[in-house]
Amino acid sequence: MNHYCLECGTQLDTRIIEDRKREICPACGWIHYKQYKVSAGVRIEKDGRLLLVKRGIDPWKGHWYMPAGFLEVDEDPEEAAVREAFEETGLKVKTLRLAGVYTYKDDPRGNGIVFLYDAEILGGTMQITNETEKIGFLSAEEVMQLKFTGISGFNQIQDWLKTKGVLMEIDHA
Ligand SMILES: [Zn+2]
Repeated sequence: MNHYCLECGTQLDTRIIEDRKREICPACGWIHYKQYKVSAGVRIEKDGRLLLVKRGIDPWKGHWYMPAGFLEVDEDPEEAAVREAFEETGLKVKTLRLAGVYTYKDDPRGNGIVFLYDAEILGGTMQITNETEKIGFLSAEEVMQLKFTGISGFNQIQDWLKTKGVLMEIDHA
């Protein structure tokens, strides 16, 4: 597929730049640097159960994840985590601390990095959206039966299970 310069609209060439194949504009020199997409999400536990959302759309329709989404260009990760939690669950939340940073290279929309925050619920009403099938607080035993949204989702869940003293030995796929 042909790509075009975001600055001047000229068709891009592919060249080796800084030891990598990159697309560059022969007219103005603009280089298309492929970079990580940045996401943020929340890890919320209540009575030993973890808040999870079941995706209703592809990619990973039917798989489960902790509420998360892409940062807007002017957002801090914690702001994005709070916003995404509300959009995906209807819950108003507050971040408490960074729980972990995760990367993935198995999403068809591009490679990414996820900032995951421990958070608590301030209010709101739990509800599904047109992108989600279910929401719920699940026990470690229930969580281990689920399919997750890729390697980052799997690693996030595995780290939570470790805090419960459970080591998950199933395949993430
Ligand atoms: Zn250009």
